[in-house]
Amino acid sequence: MIKENKLVYLIDEDVAFGRWVASQIHYYGYQVRGFQTLHSAAVAIKKRPPDAVVVSFSFAEDATAGAKFVEAMRKTMTEDIPAIFMSTLDDIHARLLAVRSGGKAFLTKPVDTSELVDWINRLTAEREHAPYQVLIVDDDKVSLTLYSKILRDAGMITREINDPMLVLESLYHFSPELILMDMYMPLCSGMELASVIRQQAAYIGIPIVFLSAETRLDVQMSAMREGGDDFLVKPIDAQHLIASIAARAERYRGLRSRMSKDSLTGLLNHGKLMEQLDFELARAMRNHQPLSFAMIDLDHFKKINDTYGHPVGDRVLKSVSQLLRDRLRKTDFIGRYGGEEFAVIMPDTAGVYAVGVLDEIRRAFSEIVHSAGNARFKCTFSCGVAEYDPKGPPLQNLAQKADETLYLAKRNGRNRVEINPL
Ligand code: GH3
Ligand code: MG
Ligand code: MG
Repeated sequence: MIKENKLVYLIDEDVAFGRWVASQIHYYGYQVRGFQTLHSAAVAIKKRPPDAVVVSFSFAEDATAGAKFVEAMRKTMTEDIPAIFMSTLDDIHARLLAVRSGGKAFLTKPVDTSELVDWINRLTAEREHAPYQVLIVDDDKVSLTLYSKILRDAGMITREINDPMLVLESLYHFSPELILMDMYMPLCSGMELASVIRQQAAYIGIPIVFLSAETRLDVQMSAMREGGDDFLVKPIDAQHLIASIAARAERYRGLRSRMSKDSLTGLLNHGKLMEQLDFELARAMRNHQPLSFAMIDLDHFKKINDTYGHPVGDRVLKSVSQLLRDRLRKTDFIGRYGGEEFAVIMPDTAGVYAVGVLDEIRRAFSEIVHSAGNARFKCTFSCGVAEYDPKGPPLQNLAQKADETLYLAKRNGRNRVEINPL
């Protein structure tokens, strides 16, 4: 299932150039409509507003017509349509005018399409912000309900725990991003519970905030020593509670994401991906659902580095990651497996289906033209898919199988997708 295509309008009087850029953006899964005149684009925008506009800065009749067009569009349209300029001019005046017109990006011609797609991606990404997940532990049901309601009304997801002995189980199943905890509870105190949680490597960084009627500073201090991150005193003002919790949960989320992401591509790193594979595989087995795991390796990548240099190679790697992100489902997990190797976990996806999707991506990638200065070149990848079939023979090592299948694809001539042979 390829995700729904975003619509991009491309406006440039040079038909051949416009067509070429459009075809390149199209490979990344965008729906593109080309226009030669600003007037025809303006009419189309009113009829059907696109997700982004890519427009030439200069036109024959006026060297800054593109900027004027964007300024007018931003005034007349209620939607906030991001605009990206392509320009042969590269001076401060042009750039300043572009910013003043409300343009979001300024690329110089000849346009590096992977950079252009990078911008389109960034500007059209839904500002999706998953709600924070907060676990509340309190033996007093009234407090529990009250604080839970305050946080829920602020858009967070909460889980209420009345019995401190159930906390560990809930950590595992709910995976909270913050724990709001009462200090004094029967059977075990909040401080003791904080220590127990901190003694497990997986939860060492999770923020724990105490919420208690305790006003003695020395007790508050010792609670912090046991691993608490903050101490809030009951009764607390709702806004104050929401603000302190959101700030800590946000920081934790950022920290965790930096630890699990590859810095060049922003994809999951090797460790995180394998962890996720274990998790998804266990789920697939439990629910008797299929799962596919694919490994991708760029073909003759060493030659690209040797010919054009490492930074150009890095850009190619980024374009692969871009393409995978654009073309795969939100529920798939994409990781950078190693140097020029990528891997994809596709839950609830049978092997034949995975092959279809990945082959489509392979074809698109092989059509993308990369640039290095004035040189243009194409690149391909090979892919090996291994599937878990709930009705098939018992599972062997899925990652190893995908790896072997990838090497089969290499042996069979590269630029192809293979599925695990029996
Ligand atoms: P094959 O088709 O058999 O896979 O050939 P190949 O040249 O792609 O394979 P090989 O394993 O010989 O070379 C992989 C190259 O990938 C070598 C290494 O320099 C390059 N590489 C690995 N990580 C990075 C990276 O982060 N950036 C860049 N630019 N190159 C990388
Ligand atoms: Mg390799
Ligand atoms: Mg390779």
